[in-house]
Amino acid sequence: MDQNSTHSNPVPVDPPRHGEPYLLTPGPLTTANGVKEQMLRDWGSWDADFREMTARLRSGILALIGSNSGEFDCVPMQGSGTFAVEAMLGSFLPGTSKTLVLSNGAYGKRTAQTLARIGRDHVVVDKGDYLPPRGSEVADALKADPSITHVVVVHCETSSGILNPVAEISEATYAAGRKLLIDSMSAFGAIPLEMDKIRCEAFVSSANKCIEGVPGFGFVVARKNELEAAAGNCHSLSLDVHDQWVTMEKTGQWRFTPPTHVVAAFLEALRLHREEGGVDGRGARYARNRDVMVQGMRGLGFETLLTDRWLSPIIVTFFNPADKAFEFGKFYQLMKDSGFIIYPGKLTVADSFRIGCIGQIDERVMADVVAAAGRALKKMGVTDARPPQSALSERAKLAA
Ligand SMILES: *Cc1c(COP(=O)(O)O)cnc(C)c1O
Repeated sequence: MDQNSTHSNPVPVDPPRHGEPYLLTPGPLTTANGVKEQMLRDWGSWDADFREMTARLRSGILALIGSNSGEFDCVPMQGSGTFAVEAMLGSFLPGTSKTLVLSNGAYGKRTAQTLARIGRDHVVVDKGDYLPPRGSEVADALKADPSITHVVVVHCETSSGILNPVAEISEATYAAGRKLLIDSMSAFGAIPLEMDKIRCEAFVSSANKCIEGVPGFGFVVARKNELEAAAGNCHSLSLDVHDQWVTMEKTGQWRFTPPTHVVAAFLEALRLHREEGGVDGRGARYARNRDVMVQGMRGLGFETLLTDRWLSPIIVTFFNPADKAFEFGKFYQLMKDSGFIIYPGKLTVADSFRIGCIGQIDERVMADVVAAAGRALKKMGVTDARPPQSALSERAKLAA
């Protein structure tokens, strides 16, 4: 983590025009005004203009995945991100498959819950709230159970903010001759995920995370041979990625009513993403957001759940201060009064809250966030933002 990043942003962010608060949450997030403005007109879903927009959406995403993108295709799916995850799992895991789910937070748990619901055999390596699943553990689990056919991992586990080591997990998976699927929902677009460097069969993300569109669809990026082979796998008609793909290839249309306004907004979001320098430029801004925010919050006495090595530039979890005067509900309201919506924590080990680094925000906004947190502490009468000792000893496990 670069604690000294003080560069200003190459592309200025576009502050909310209607006085609404900044969303420091990992989607929905604060979008550019130009993105919102694209939603002011209607599109016919079957019309050639909209079919061309769908084609641009698909090619725009494929342009971000590296030099072998011709082996892949992008299939947008209506709904929130979870719909796209369930579509990927249901479509690429045949009824005879057995999946190793790597879980270290709420989204890993949701993957296991989805597999249970749709009747796909699976085992879970549960690392708790925030410890990373390592390549060596994957290798061991695959060696111990030859009947496992697939591995599923969450790229950035948004519940803690940890950036899971997908490269070593991919290596271990393919060294053992198995297949990998990735939930890259909150990482894709800001953290490199190039298919010629990190092997997988498919991954998913959605419109309203690092590409900075508005919510309404997710997308599956998958190998064309996996898309072909997925015929008949899916438990669901509307979530069948193979069927959606075949229809889109044949007609250029979505099978059911597409979120037309969301697609229009997304194309503008993709344009801004390119203008900012693509994945690298976007990731650099988010990293600066994180660095300025974390440094400032630590200056106030707050402690991060994760050590620097595992801190993603997507979202950061802080322990609640031990000080009896600290109350999350009050803190939340005071932050909101200053124009910032923060996010409650999702840990079982310790009380915590989260601050997102993604969306149309830059380091100046982050400096204001820190100042607002300082004022809020003062107002509550919190003199010391340090967490309880028990939280810190929990964290020490990460170094072990
Ligand atoms: C946001 C997110 C999802 C999808 O959540 P929805 O609320 O359905 O959009 C899935 N996985 C991860 C890691 C996420 O961050």
